[in-house]
Amino acid sequence: MTELDDLAELAKRRGFFFPSNEAYGGTAGFYTYGPEGAALKRNLEDTWRDIFVREEGHMELEAPTVMPEAVFEASGHLDGFDDMIIECVECGATHRADHLVEDAVEDIEDAEAYEPEEVAELIADHGIECPSCGASLADTDVEEFNLMFGTNIGPGSSSPGYLRPETAQGIFVEFPRLKEYARNQLPFGVAQIGRAYRNEISPRRALVRVREFTQAELEHFIDPETDDPPLERVADVEVPLYSAESQNADDGGVETYTVGEAVEEGVIGSEWVAYYLGRAMDFYERIGIDMDRFRYRQHLSGERAHYAADCWDAETELGGNWVEVTGFAYRSDYDLSKHGEYSGEDFTLFRQYDEPKTVERATVDPDMSYLGPEFGGAAGDVADALESLAGRDRSAFDGEEVTVEVDGESYTVPVEKTGFSVEEQTEAGEHITPHVVEPSFGVGRLVYSVLIHRHGTDEVDGEQRAFLDLPADIAPTTVAVFPLMTKDGLDDRAEELAHELRENGFEVAYDDTGNIGRRYRRQDEVGTPYCVTVDYETLEDGTVTVRERDSTDQTRVAVDELPGALRQLVGGATLSEL
Ligand code: AMP
Repeated sequence: MTELDDLAELAKRRGFFFPSNEAYGGTAGFYTYGPEGAALKRNLEDTWRDIFVREEGHMELEAPTVMPEAVFEASGHLDGFDDMIIECVECGATHRADHLVEDAVEDIEDAEAYEPEEVAELIADHGIECPSCGASLADTDVEEFNLMFGTNIGPGSSSPGYLRPETAQGIFVEFPRLKEYARNQLPFGVAQIGRAYRNEISPRRALVRVREFTQAELEHFIDPETDDPPLERVADVEVPLYSAESQNADDGGVETYTVGEAVEEGVIGSEWVAYYLGRAMDFYERIGIDMDRFRYRQHLSGERAHYAADCWDAETELGGNWVEVTGFAYRSDYDLSKHGEYSGEDFTLFRQYDEPKTVERATVDPDMSYLGPEFGGAAGDVADALESLAGRDRSAFDGEEVTVEVDGESYTVPVEKTGFSVEEQTEAGEHITPHVVEPSFGVGRLVYSVLIHRHGTDEVDGEQRAFLDLPADIAPTTVAVFPLMTKDGLDDRAEELAHELRENGFEVAYDDTGNIGRRYRRQDEVGTPYCVTVDYETLEDGTVTVRERDSTDQTRVAVDELPGALRQLVGGATLSEL
């Protein structure tokens, strides 16, 4: 069995995650997190929140998952959020056309960047067949398929809506209100953890490509001219970078830089992106990603959205493939400008100058008693054209006459009839559209990566054991309590202890079935870092056995001191340090 098969089996058997709706034949692309998985996911989200909301001092909101069509017209998703689809004429199965090419052609890793016609040509040239029935796909068209799930808001079809394909839009559309909460001061960040939906053509690889998933996104709004990130906080953090240049070089690979060096040498183009690449290292380490199976990969120029200045993906290695788990993008003012343009609302902020500025403004005050008789119905438009020309090019008014164009016709006016003048005005500031830096994390892919990276086997007392060496504060259960036997009051004492530990804030499991060895194995397999056994000595001297998952070492601790000892252990102490 491969690493991924192994994990899928464990995930299903022990309740981390499993395909949804199996009673009705299953629904591809949907997974349910079982009790262990839901707890693990929650802990991971709490760690994210701790770093990207609390430590950064950002806000967090919770927006609806259904949004009206107008939002996605503005954001560009309605027109452009497409993947390439090919439908087999023989069996009717649909496939991601670019993935077929990537799987079949060795040097093509990013067929998404190609046009559909080019992909169709590659499919024909390489004789690619339908993975479902083996028929040739050579003469089959490749088409664009929009990934958004559509719905109707309210009865009838007059108000189309979509399930959001990313959580970000729920933040952008509320900017006019959010800026008030930030007292109209940049920079400020708004985060959201929530569901996103994409009607993926071929969901695959368990939690990697699903149709409903959780994102944790941060939109950091900045003034590009005046706001710098606190780079000194992350300057010494080491980041494994696979730059666009390395990807294009024959012998290029991942190189480790400090964030400071990467910025200085221009490897990372945006200081803001660099800051978040550094900050995110803390997150990946805390949740238990194996840093030997992790890299930051820069987007190649063809991959990047036209408005994005610099983009990097965090990738983890899973079963031999690199998978994007986070996208880091400098999105410029694209999103807010679009929503401003489409909604007519104010998506700008007022940037106050340090000192009020005196500026010269050229204006006109045309003599309409001249323009009216001269130009008839066009007089008003001629006046507007003169006003606009004065703003653009005041030298046009230097001579005796000035000429403007209206609907393709030229109109010449004596300058003395335009009322042209240059006036001085004092301005306190200007309206700017903030830029956005966005780290966007896929929570499911991270849960999956952590499970694969932390899953292992070893030998204990001559027996094979499977374990998950999850960090203690990420593990679904922190401590499992066992009675040695279910008699002589040991079970009552153990249940009472489990209750006390729960009251102390720990995630506790209670297990009194099977022998102690089996109970340890069960907890090792779901990543519980500590087990506590109540035995006959407990009744005599009030101590219990504490056993550590990774070393399998054991020590005795007084029951009264157990909550404090567990806190120390979760904080990083070893058993011998208690
Ligand atoms: P994107 O907006 O495509 O850059 O996606 C942002 C993040 O969401 C990615 O880094 C992934 O971790 C996650 N993601 C995107 N699509 C899916 C999917 N179909 N299933 C699971 N996670 C996804």
